[in-house]
Amino acid sequence: MCKHILNAQVSIRAQCCRRWFDCPQCHQEVSDHELLRTMEMIFACKKCKKVFRKDMENYEEQDEFCPHCDNQYVIEAVEPQMEVGFETEDVRKDASLIRDHRVKQKPIDPHEALEEYRKAVAKQMALLDEAEEAELLKD
Ligand SMILES: [Zn+2]
Ligand SMILES: [Zn+2]
Ligand SMILES: [Zn+2]
Repeated sequence: MCKHILNAQVSIRAQCCRRWFDCPQCHQEVSDHELLRTMEMIFACKKCKKVFRKDMENYEEQDEFCPHCDNQYVIEAVEPQMEVGFETEDVRKDASLIRDHRVKQKPIDPHEALEEYRKAVAKQMALLDEAEEAELLKD
């Protein structure tokens, strides 16, 4: 369980540094690099402590459950109450929420996540191409 998503059901293995994190924010806080997003993701179920892989490209409804214990891990993320002054931009944007003491809920949408991964992978490929080109120009 991390401080960003209070009801996280799985840990995610970051492919870039091969470490386990509860959420991308946790990775961000301790890393000096961007989280590498890949089509194949490795999860560890917090309920049965077993590890499983998911292909985000062929992600279907039954993939929202741990294959070992059937625990549904794609659920509404319970985020901690906003701390005033923590992120000024967010506070301004969500000013109406400050007086709302209920826990803010945000759904985890695998399709949205997939779209993000696609973009990140495309960006990485472009960077690789650029690096290769620069290498070729050197000779
Ligand atoms: Zn990393
Ligand atoms: Zn976190
Ligand atoms: Zn499980």
